[in-house]
Amino acid sequence: MNELNLPHYHISVRPLVEYVFRSGSIDSRFQAPTSLSEGTRAHQKIQKTYNEGDQKEVPLKLSIEHGGFLFELEGRCDGLLFGEKGNIIIDEIKSTAAGIEGILIDSYPVHLAQAKCYAYMFSMDKGIKEISIQLTYVDSKTDDLKRFHQTFSFQQLESFIKEILEDFLPFARMLSEHKNLCRQSIKDLVFPFKTYRKGQKKLAASVYDAIKGKKELFLRAPTGIGKTISTIFPSVKAVGEEEIDHLFYLTAKTITRQTAEESFQLLEKEGLHFKTVTLTAKDKVCLNDTTSCQKDMCPFADGYYDRINGAILDIYKNKNNITRGTIEEYSKKHRVCPFEFSLDLAYIADAVICDYNYIFDPRISLKRFSEEYKKRSLLLIDEAHNLVDRARGMFSGSLMKSPFLNIKRSYKGKNQRIFESAKNINQYFIDLKKEADNRKEWILSEFPDNLFKLAAEFNSRTEEELASGSTDTELLDAYFMTLAFVKTAALFDDHYAIMIQADRKEATIKLFCLDPSLLLSKMGKNYHSKVYFSATFTPMNYFKEMLGANNEAMEVSIDSPFASSQTEVFIYPISTRYKGREKSYNPIAKTINDLITVRPGNYLVFFPSYQYLMETFEAFKEIDAMTETIIQSRGMAESEREAFLASFQEENKNSLVGFAVLGGVFSEGVDLKGERLNGVVCVGVGLPQVGLERNIIKDYYRAQGSNGFDYSYVYPGMNKVLQAAGRLIRSEDDYGTIVLMDDRFLENKYQKLLPQEWKDFRII
Ligand code: SF4
Repeated sequence: MNELNLPHYHISVRPLVEYVFRSGSIDSRFQAPTSLSEGTRAHQKIQKTYNEGDQKEVPLKLSIEHGGFLFELEGRCDGLLFGEKGNIIIDEIKSTAAGIEGILIDSYPVHLAQAKCYAYMFSMDKGIKEISIQLTYVDSKTDDLKRFHQTFSFQQLESFIKEILEDFLPFARMLSEHKNLCRQSIKDLVFPFKTYRKGQKKLAASVYDAIKGKKELFLRAPTGIGKTISTIFPSVKAVGEEEIDHLFYLTAKTITRQTAEESFQLLEKEGLHFKTVTLTAKDKVCLNDTTSCQKDMCPFADGYYDRINGAILDIYKNKNNITRGTIEEYSKKHRVCPFEFSLDLAYIADAVICDYNYIFDPRISLKRFSEEYKKRSLLLIDEAHNLVDRARGMFSGSLMKSPFLNIKRSYKGKNQRIFESAKNINQYFIDLKKEADNRKEWILSEFPDNLFKLAAEFNSRTEEELASGSTDTELLDAYFMTLAFVKTAALFDDHYAIMIQADRKEATIKLFCLDPSLLLSKMGKNYHSKVYFSATFTPMNYFKEMLGANNEAMEVSIDSPFASSQTEVFIYPISTRYKGREKSYNPIAKTINDLITVRPGNYLVFFPSYQYLMETFEAFKEIDAMTETIIQSRGMAESEREAFLASFQEENKNSLVGFAVLGGVFSEGVDLKGERLNGVVCVGVGLPQVGLERNIIKDYYRAQGSNGFDYSYVYPGMNKVLQAAGRLIRSEDDYGTIVLMDDRFLENKYQKLLPQEWKDFRII
């Protein structure tokens, strides 16, 4: 509030004019993008031509009263120019790679409005009666320019600004009213359970401390303690105390996203008013059979921007938890694309529940968040042990030979430039394969500069073809593949390796990110605070290093709230090593049979591979054809997965043995409470399959002075074992049996990685 007692509303010019002036349809037909660096270069080139005394990148601020608010506008104009007759000109520069020939002064009302707002802000500040604007469009490929000029009186600009604010008023009112309601509701909010579980208070307090101290927190908290609510509750409280304004709940899996949604719903029942939006991948949430985002193909794309403001006002006024189902319902009601709708909502929500990639993947991350917004936002990163390999994938990029061979063939005589370009890349791979020397996989010791240039050239030539209206999907896919490769190449440094895979038909070159820590910390930079949490941060230092922890990062471990008497742990010391593995099928099958004979119930048995699973399953059926079994198969559909889990019922009269794969869909995030699961058997120590990728990671960390084998194989493997066995005890009323089948579990290295409550194991 100010001396007039008006509520403040702080907004940048760009989102304000976008809200008011955006219109038309979503059109995802190919448009040549202007990269950030190209845009900046084009801007700077123009700014260098300014006369002496002209200014560039001029920050502007203005407080203006309207409709019961004190609006605080801010922005930055590209140029402040002084004309020959002393007239003042605000220059607004826009770069495009799509050509400038057809652009008129009113082609982009948002650009014109932006320039007029800056002109008003400057005139108001300096008491100027008349001012000009200049809209400068630059073709980022050719540097051709097109300029438009207009002159306005102060009164004209003032009326214009008032009209904009009037249009924006309902939105400002809605957000302001929500903010008041939200803050008020948080004041009285209490933890939504009568009591805290053992350790839960410490967990919540450590999250709160991390937010207060603007710190990174690495939190190891056991499965079943209630991590989701214990991280969300203190974060919401911190919003109420104005420590932060927003939070992101980042997860790797749909099931954990639902748990986060349920936690917010629980708090809503306690009186919380909080706007939470869940983001779902475009192909999943799309309302059409084929995702073709053009107005002629999709009614939800057609006129999207004409209807989106109404849709936002409607959903925001009526819903707090905006889940996938709610998005779909309101998308149909207002005929707007659910994916774009959810993104638009994310920018105004109190909390966003989404996959890691919306924050950490440089190709997908949400770009409209300002640095100021990030400084007021918290990242809660759930099951963060998954982020290590996910990040390796996000920061890596590949090129395959076969698309270039196909394009070479199909563009011969049709487009010589694309034909030549594809031919050159195809030839590069042919030459590469000649170096194979009977190898199927190997690493290149030097960065392939030549290929990088060829890929960039192909990308640029393809861009011209696609921008001219080509609908060749193979060309489009190859364009995006080379674009991702060129972008990854820009990140390439000594955290990367260059891998080649080749066989008779195909060859692939991959810029493989071995160590994601640096890029993760860059992508997560500037957020107010970050909480990484997992039940299996074991060993903690390994995960801190992998996830790019800074020197001041806090570290907290919470003991299990459950009694060790709830779990009986057995180790069956048998070799499950690849060599001689066939000798283990029968003994393992026999031991499973003994287990269910002595302790009937529902069991999950995890294997390191499908083949191992099937061989042991066959052996088990030989011994025991009567016991009910269910098998995880490759690529199970959602409904098949649900059916698999639904077969684990408390009421099952006979034993059930589920055969599943370690590290697969059933070994993490699955919640089978009480008698639905009586025991878990883990066959092997979970080591990833030996291969080139894992071996280069091993060598990389060995060269850094760490135990490369542990970093590459042991820790990721044991993580899978701990996650799978963690499915067993989910509450104070759960009891059950864990059987670890491998002689290596008795070795010191593996013993150190077992949770304290398993240390009273017995050897079978
Ligand atoms: S509904 Fe589907 S096809 Fe239509 S714009 Fe959205 S994502 Fe694209």
